[in-house]
Formats: sequence, structure tokens, C-alpha cells
Amino acid sequence: MAVKQTAGRDALGGFAPKFAELNDDVLFGQVWSREGELSLRDRSLVTVVALMAQGLVDSSFQYHLATARQNGITRPEIAEILTHAAFYVGWPKAWAAFRMAKEVWSEGGGDDGRARHQQEMVFPIGAPNDGFAHYFTGRSYLQPLSTAQVGVYNVTFEPGCRNNWHVHSASKGGGQLLLCVAGRGWYQEWGRPARALGPGDVVNIPAGVKHWHGAARDSWFSHLAVEVPGEDCSNQWLEAVSDEEYSALA
Ligand code: MN
Repeated sequence: MAVKQTAGRDALGGFAPKFAELNDDVLFGQVWSREGELSLRDRSLVTVVALMAQGLVDSSFQYHLATARQNGITRPEIAEILTHAAFYVGWPKAWAAFRMAKEVWSEGGGDDGRARHQQEMVFPIGAPNDGFAHYFTGRSYLQPLSTAQVGVYNVTFEPGCRNNWHVHSASKGGGQLLLCVAGRGWYQEWGRPARALGPGDVVNIPAGVKHWHGAARDSWFSHLAVEVPGEDCSNQWLEAVSDEEYSALA
């Protein structure tokens, strides 16, 4: 999936249009977006270590750490990556990188954030939602609550996590019902403004409507997803909600 980047044009579009174009369209539009050999997580790992090796701990390093976290690098993993790299790039550079990494991975995230979120909620967070990870940006968790009669699942999103645009299809009935139980999040239908969600909110999603749901950037979020019974039910997973679309949410 293409990585959309406008930082070059935003910062330097008027001053250095060619540099801006190379940054946004070639580096991000082509290299970061090239699929196959390396995942976005792999590219984040390479980039973080390369910047750290130069002793660069500016806002671009912070951006790449935040992106690394979004691309699935966990707190224990970044600690291991920086520790390993420290021997090759130099101890003081690791110290500087750790200061920033600690900030990026502490913002409402990590185990502390998850534990606090669990305390606000009667349903369990459950296990990492590995089966659907491909259709999510960021980490999510899944706890089946009912698999008989009507399927009910507690879905928990880490801060910044959301699912791809998708459609619940059915020839009759079907669709999805979301019952928000903890934290803050978003729901958006294609072509419509996003709706902010909090505990107690209910969202009725008719079959055939393209939409996504997920956490706010700075909050964990959980909703019960109820499978509305219908005929010929299936889900179509579509494109990811881009950083640009997601960042634009108020
Ligand atoms: Mn849905």
C-alpha cells in the first residue's frame, strides 16, 4: 500500500520544489511504498538505526520512532534494537535515542496503558488480534464473548490503531453493531465526517456501507462488535485509512 507523505511540500515546497518532490514522491511514494522484500516494519527498523548511527535525534528521528511504533515495533523490541545498535554506533548515541524512544513508547501505550485501560472495562482485552492484523494499522486485541446465537467480540485498539476501510455484506439482514465500552475512538462512513466515540455510544452499521473504526490517536479504545444475523454474510477488506486522513481528524 502506498505511503502518503506531504512533509516535503509542506516544509519546502516553495523553497525547494524538486527536493520536496523527491522526498514525497520518490523516497516515500516509491521506496517506502515498495512492497515485497521488506515490510513497513522492516523499513522502520532500518531507518531508525540509520538515523541513530548519525546521532540524529531531531524531529525527523521522533517522526520515524512514532512511525516505527505504528508499524508494529513494540516497546521491548525498540529497547532491544537500540541496545544492539549501541555497540556499533556508539554509547552516547544510544543514550540520546533512548530518551526519545522512551517518550514515544510511553504515550498512553505499552503495558501501563493497557493495564489502565483494562481497569476501565469489565470485558477482557483478550489476545493480540493476529488473525486480522493484516487489515489493521497498529495493534489490536480480540476477545470473543459469544460465538453462539449471535457473535459478539470485544475489540480493543491501541492508541492510533484503526482497521482498514471495509464492508459487511449480506444479501439479507447482516451488518454490524458496535457498542462502545471504554476509551475514545472514531467511526467513519465513506464520504461522511468521522464520528467521535466514547463509552456508551452505539453505532449501527448497515450491510453494504463502507466504513472503518478505531482508537483516537491518544487513547485506547474498546467496542463490542456484534455480528447482525443475515444471509450470505461476508466481509470485504479494502484500503488502509491513510496517515493523512487519520491525522486530519479533530
Ligand atoms: Mn466494521
